[in-house]
Amino acid sequence: MVTQYSLQDDGDSTTSLHILLAEDNPVNQKLAIRLLEKRGHRVAIASNGREALSALEKRSYDLVLMDVQMPEMDGLEATMLLREKEKVSGERQLVVAMTALVMKGDRERCMAAGMDGYLSKPIRPQELDEVLDSYLARGREGFSVAEPNDSLEASVSAQELLERIDGDRVLLSELVVLFRGDYPGQIRTAREAVAKGDAATLERVGHALKGATGNLAAPIASRIADELESMGRTGDLALAGTRVTALEEELIRVVEVLEGLGMEVSQ
Ligand code: MN
Repeated sequence: MVTQYSLQDDGDSTTSLHILLAEDNPVNQKLAIRLLEKRGHRVAIASNGREALSALEKRSYDLVLMDVQMPEMDGLEATMLLREKEKVSGERQLVVAMTALVMKGDRERCMAAGMDGYLSKPIRPQELDEVLDSYLARGREGFSVAEPNDSLEASVSAQELLERIDGDRVLLSELVVLFRGDYPGQIRTAREAVAKGDAATLERVGHALKGATGNLAAPIASRIADELESMGRTGDLALAGTRVTALEEELIRVVEVLEGLGMEVSQ
């Protein structure tokens, strides 16, 4: 599975890193794994903070990429617990947060939890390269600070998407298949959550869809999903039903555009 080439050509064997990716969203996982493996790194997966901690009990990694929002145990809590354990062991595991940075103060919260740096989500290859290069060149210091990107108003920003996936048309079609199979169930779950007044589930589904649509460079869908997540968080579900419907309609458009884009690039 590991492709043995690196963007750096200094011939240094240390350029292949062993990375632990803690990420709950399957689309985000796949995208990150692909980007990392293309760069010659080996990737182990954890789906939440608890799994990440148990993986780190067994061995250390060159780098942990830690999603902030995850079920069971989030990235902040996992990192804080890890740092507590390290006070005893004397070791220091490098941890870089992955966060949408939606709110001012997120960066400070990451640093307060003991993160060494952060990447903005959705991950862009260029920002990932900057973080990896910082690590390769300087060890544990000097991470770049990524800025959140601006949204465009098309259902899908094709240019942004293609840039994000390194122009990899095979990856694009795999992501589309994955997303097309995943989102109808999420919409169904959101609808049921609204009907039952289950705010926590709506928050979780909103978060998941926000991440997935962000990665697919679908800003409108991402924004509606973000609204649903916020409604779930605050428990104000008055408008949630209509927004779920709006999201479903937008996702149909998104998938249409993505399918068209997949055909375009494969010709
Ligand atoms: Mn997440």
